[in-house]
Amino acid sequence: MNCGRQMTGKGASQMTCHDWKDMMMGYLDNELDQEQKARFEEHLKGCPECKKELQEFKNLKSITDDVALAEPEEKLWQDYWGGVYNRIELGIGWIIFSIAAIILIIFGGFKAIENVIRNPGVECTLKIGLILLVVGLAILLVSVLRERIFFWKRDRYKDIQR
Ligand SMILES: [Zn+2]
Repeated sequence: MNCGRQMTGKGASQMTCHDWKDMMMGYLDNELDQEQKARFEEHLKGCPECKKELQEFKNLKSITDDVALAEPEEKLWQDYWGGVYNRIELGIGWIIFSIAAIILIIFGGFKAIENVIRNPGVECTLKIGLILLVVGLAILLVSVLRERIFFWKRDRYKDIQR
């Protein structure tokens, strides 16, 4: 980057390659006025180094533009999760998860309650509370499971209808 040549030709000021480099981004963003633009293009014709530099700037700019364009990715995800197969996948996932949770809570819960109930040192109220807690959780999970199966069936039905 040791260009240092000075502009010659029509209307040339004392601009060096270094000065032009400062203007490259402006040139790429189309922010230069007509005269600056024409002069810069004139300079490019006679200066391979600035031309090369401009190309590098262009590549850099296209990368950053791509990053900016990548933002609507969220919409892609929405489409993806809205897709038929992914809804079914999600539905099945939730159903399996709910079944597993019910099994774990009921069996684990009863094991824990068994221990508490067998322990004569634990108060009766606490025992009843624990039983109700486990039963309540199981009922909640069953209703979640039913809801999931309902939506899953409905989604499938909807897709067949289309
Ligand atoms: Zn130059």
